[in-house]
Amino acid sequence: MHRKGHLLGATSAWTVTIVLYYFFSGVDFTSLDVKHSVWMILSFFACHFGAQLPDYDVLWKKFLPHRNVLTHSFILPILFTLPVYITRKDLTGDFVFLVPIFAMYLIGHASHLFLDLGPNKWEGTALIHIFWRNEEGRKTMPPTSSFLFLLINGLIILAGGIILLFFFSRWVF
Ligand SMILES: [Zn+2]
Repeated sequence: MHRKGHLLGATSAWTVTIVLYYFFSGVDFTSLDVKHSVWMILSFFACHFGAQLPDYDVLWKKFLPHRNVLTHSFILPILFTLPVYITRKDLTGDFVFLVPIFAMYLIGHASHLFLDLGPNKWEGTALIHIFWRNEEGRKTMPPTSSFLFLLINGLIILAGGIILLFFFSRWVF
């Protein structure tokens, strides 16, 4: 999946999340104020950033092979989001703002992993790269493990995003 596909995936994930979020929130649409549009815009960018971040590994080729266990797993997203999650109760005023935006970053990141589940062929760069060699002398997981790795990590990140978005409700309403 290339950059365009991931951006499109992010737009879809963002749209679906916003629609579901407001649908289940039971918000009174006649009383929406400006903060709703602000978080929508910022979260849109956060979601698209998240959807592209895993493939920034091509920029760090020297250290990280493409589709490696670090960028295509929950490790980076959880590291980025942990401070926000831990301090969520202390976040007041304008800072509460960070919570939903990080949630949308996570959802974008998850969308990347889900889209990576459908390569043309499970070989070469489509496989998850590890930092050590397996028995065939390659530094990749076998196809089934690569698929499961992406799926499970995508689900964990998505769950993190949904949980974080849930905490957002006290800011919006
Ligand atoms: Zn990828």
